[in-house]
Amino acid sequence: SSAIRIGLIPADGIGREVIPAAQRVLEALPNGPKFDFVHLDAGFEHFQKTGTALPQSTVDTLKNECHGALFGAVSSPSHKVAGYSSPIVALRKHLDLYANVRPVISVKSASTPNQKELDMLIIRENTECLYIKSERIEQDPKTGLKVAYADRKISEYASKRIGAMAFNMALTRQKLREQKPLAQRFWKHAPRVTIVHKSNVMSVTDGLFRETVRAVKESNPELYSGVDMDEQLVDSMVYRMFREPEAFDVVVAPNLYGDIISDGAAALVGSLGVVPSANVGDSFVMGEPVHGSAPDIAGKGIANPIAAIRSAGLLLEHMGHTAHALAMYDAVNAVLADASVLTPDLGGKSSTNDVVEAVLKHL
Ligand code: NAD
Ligand code: MN
Repeated sequence: SSAIRIGLIPADGIGREVIPAAQRVLEALPNGPKFDFVHLDAGFEHFQKTGTALPQSTVDTLKNECHGALFGAVSSPSHKVAGYSSPIVALRKHLDLYANVRPVISVKSASTPNQKELDMLIIRENTECLYIKSERIEQDPKTGLKVAYADRKISEYASKRIGAMAFNMALTRQKLREQKPLAQRFWKHAPRVTIVHKSNVMSVTDGLFRETVRAVKESNPELYSGVDMDEQLVDSMVYRMFREPEAFDVVVAPNLYGDIISDGAAALVGSLGVVPSANVGDSFVMGEPVHGSAPDIAGKGIANPIAAIRSAGLLLEHMGHTAHALAMYDAVNAVLADASVLTPDLGGKSSTNDVVEAVLKHL
């Protein structure tokens, strides 16, 4: 059939509340595509029941039968549990989802550390850096004390494809701003890519990342001449992001820096409950809210579904269904701007279901 097949993996905690919420919004899109949803297991609770956090059948169904997926959240324990490893990390690897794309947009009604408007897109490399988890421990023969080492991998191949995605997304965002000013509201300059690194200290690894991303622009001057390029050392990136978040459009970073600055950026917009992400590869996309399983509020019906709804929008956007994605973003933005139906994380008294109903009304 011509239906779009989406794997739904709610996993743990509020994942089970916000993924069905996002599904309802997808199903209600006016003149929307026909969806075929496939419900799939994964997560810590599944591990506790069955001994596996990511069944092979989930991976196979996603690979062989689905066009994209929507993931909720996992409750990863902080202590080591024998036989357990995070299913989300494994899925990114199995499906070669090499970019983690995180738009961070201010919410006017939220209480935040500063009231500046931001509308930035963080693009985090998703496959290498310190996350190759090549760690070892030795004993220092002199002191007799332990020494731990980790390898950090930065490849020209991965840096080049993440760089290309950053420049392409800068152009796409500009196009969307021209078409539909509400979707990307605050950036008023020429498109810009900011490269985050620390090549003053790590001149070999971060140096390669920096040079490779810079070379992407130089390799195609015709296409990218309208995109400004600048760079920021990761520590001063954090400082500037908190003081002048409006100075950033597209930000591209190696895996660990991208992880850290995107959680910091989420703090600037008032709640984790509104920040979406997409894990993007060349042939598969998986939407995923940035937040975790929120055990403190799970089961109460008050989780903010906006991050998951926006993640479903990102899924459609990166599958090429841009008009439907924009309709979802606009409906969410209208609910946030109106501010009469908000969940407690944004200072409101409404439920998950109330917010979904409000979004459906604006669609
Ligand atoms: P968390 O994101 O689950 O929660 C942090 C705080 O934000 C909590 O107070 C929570 O109530 C609130 N919050 C988060 N999402 C919300 C939403 N949609 N609506 C309203 N409030 C929301 O982070 P945590 O508490 O550090 O971790 C809890 C569990 O989630 C841990 O087991 C952790 O390993 C896991 N986790 C998973 C992911 C993921 O699946 N990608 C990400 C982060 C944490
Ligand atoms: Mn993180």
